[in-house]
Amino acid sequence: MRVNFWGVRGSLPAPQLPSQIKSKISAILEQITPEDIASPENRERFLAGLPPWLFGTVGGNSPCVSVTLEDTREFIIFDCGSGMREMGIAMSQEKPKPSRYHIFFSHFHWDHLQGLPFFNPAYDPSVKLDFYSPMQNLEKVLAGQMVAPYFPVHLENMGSQKHFYLMEEPVHVGNVSIQYKKMNHPGDSYSYMVCENGKRFIYATDTELTAPDFMKTEENTAFFEGADMIVIDCQYTLGEAIDKYNWGHSAFSLAVDFAANWGIKHMVMFHHDPTYNDRKLYNILQSARWYIERMNIKGIELTLATEGLEISL
Ligand SMILES: [Zn+2]
Ligand SMILES: [Zn+2]
Repeated sequence: MRVNFWGVRGSLPAPQLPSQIKSKISAILEQITPEDIASPENRERFLAGLPPWLFGTVGGNSPCVSVTLEDTREFIIFDCGSGMREMGIAMSQEKPKPSRYHIFFSHFHWDHLQGLPFFNPAYDPSVKLDFYSPMQNLEKVLAGQMVAPYFPVHLENMGSQKHFYLMEEPVHVGNVSIQYKKMNHPGDSYSYMVCENGKRFIYATDTELTAPDFMKTEENTAFFEGADMIVIDCQYTLGEAIDKYNWGHSAFSLAVDFAANWGIKHMVMFHHDPTYNDRKLYNILQSARWYIERMNIKGIELTLATEGLEISL
């Protein structure tokens, strides 16, 4: 399967500020020498050598992650944050364009819904949208954000063919089943697991990890143990997680402990705090790598989720 990240920021979209752009440009100019711009090759080498927090950005859109199945090319979406708008634009350039999307919600907080009204394929009558959630009133909740005075177009007038499913058991998409698990978050959230050709992917955002998540129960073991990849809530530093106890998000170090506890092979740090700039997020990634090394944890690959990131597994 192929995993694409369209929105990685938590709580609300956080675009780059003019002051942040200016400080990146200033920092780059301080490093540059005449030799670095003497030829196109030198320029490319200089740019390639810049750290990612200067030459790029983690991205400011709220959560949207897609999974394309390898065998059937079915298209699965986790959450409809503002990154969904970018995905819709990218999909309109695909040949052939996908004609069906299976859309799953972790929960209904704003940052996981607000991209749907701006998802272009949703206005195409030839497109089928299948929405799923283990939470009640899915259609009503989605329609509720598309009424005056909040938005001029009603959900029912979006054009595409829409179906809404209350998940009471795993759902089958193509030849894979998608399982869900309730997580700890204000008003609850749900994580999802997709398994295809022996590879297991988990999407687990908006969760404040606690002792029960680490317990070797039958349910936890079947869901988490030995997964190939987890996209997991890493919103806070440890200090901030203590300050924001019960806000429903996790410190990156606790997420590392969780991945180690379950022998998960690849952990993708996700749902970045809107107040953290690119430099701070890459520092957190570095801290997480140090933590893995100091704790002598073996076998976890670590990635910071960024907009545009694509991972195959
Ligand atoms: Zn969120
Ligand atoms: Zn939330």
